Amino acid sequence: VQAVREPAQADQLLLLDASSDRLSSQQHAEIEAQRANTAITRRATVTSMEELLYAALPVLDHGFIRVIDYMGDDPAIVQAARVSYGAGTKQKRGDAGLINYLMRNRHTSPFEMCEIKLHVKLPIFVARQWVRHRAASLNEYSARYSILDREFYIPAPDALAKQATTNRQGRGEILEPEQAQRVLEMLRADAHQAYLRYEHLLGETATGAAVPDGIGLARELARMDLTLNVYTQWYWKVDLHNLLHFLKLRADPHAQYEIRAYANVLLQILKVWVPLAFEAFKQYRLDAYEISSKGLGVVRRLLAGGSVDAASSGMSAGEYRELMGVLGLSER
Ligand SMILES: Cc1cc2nc3c(=O)[nH]c(=O)nc-3n(C[C@H](O)[C@H](O)[C@H](O)COP(=O)(O)OP(=O)(O)OC[C@H]3O[C@@H](n4cnc5c(N)ncnc54)[C@H](O)[C@@H]3O)c2cc1C
Repeated sequence: VQAVREPAQADQLLLLDASSDRLSSQQHAEIEAQRANTAITRRATVTSMEELLYAALPVLDHGFIRVIDYMGDDPAIVQAARVSYGAGTKQKRGDAGLINYLMRNRHTSPFEMCEIKLHVKLPIFVARQWVRHRAASLNEYSARYSILDREFYIPAPDALAKQATTNRQGRGEILEPEQAQRVLEMLRADAHQAYLRYEHLLGETATGAAVPDGIGLARELARMDLTLNVYTQWYWKVDLHNLLHFLKLRADPHAQYEIRAYANVLLQILKVWVPLAFEAFKQYRLDAYEISSKGLGVVRRLLAGGSVDAASSGMSAGEYRELMGVLGLSER
């Protein structure tokens, strides 16, 4: 059984240039103007984040993430922690050690001292998941006020898979090429058909051209007829603590492929912005696993040379299977 591949995890962040059609010509011009400006500041800055500012980083087929602003850096986390622990911590631990300590012990408030503001372009069905993260500030493109662009997310063929049999919320076996082709044709045709209808209802196109025999229906009503793979855009501001919480949930293999594609780019931004916090997060949260007390009992029995199976573990079959997977003992 061939599984869906992981969303791209580039080591290098790719910046979109003026030839990219993910951005309108107006957006290209705005980005160029923003990137041409440099201001002198007394605030702490991160050189590689300054280089990243305003540029669009591609995600999925038409989406992007742009860093619009950020506040704080690794030293800001350390500085906040030292306010609570006092100067004594300086002798005891270096910055990396202190950040690791904070992460390991869930001392979260120093991470709230850093903030980031992003411009994100994403399909509406991904936005529905993203917006569940309430501890952030958001301004979305208004489809009551403006007309949504004719841009739909169409998955790559190898991201199309059947319903998983072991997990009701996931993808299983990848589709055969001919089947994938049929699905893609349906997705494209339906999205285009719905968008044509949207323009007809509006009586105008996104560029302001009149649609012959169009109805002139209110934008807030016409949008009802669109498909969920249409792209929306928003500004999203979040503090580092809540961004890490978002990433723990959305960069996880259980999260949907499409939101993980965004989470992977955010991880790369994190690495550039707060490299020490990023490493601590990977070590103690992202690549770590929380074991229940029953799970710990299983591990202790195994370490003592005893035998254990799902029935004697006291755990549910799913939880036991997950633990064995994490321990690399799936065959048990
Ligand atoms: C794999 C996956 C599958 C999911 N499936 C579903 C699903 O099927 N249906 C569905 O509805 N959702 C689903 N969700 C969404 C999930 O239940 C959360 O709503 C979402 O992940 C946001 O998490 P959060 O509330 O911790 O984050 P945030 O809203 O950002 O909140 C951060 C933290 O602030 C605190 N907080 C915020 N608001 C409150 C509040 N009102 N009361 C108390 N504490 C608060 C909590 O400690 C919370 O953890 C899924 C999420 C994932 C990752």
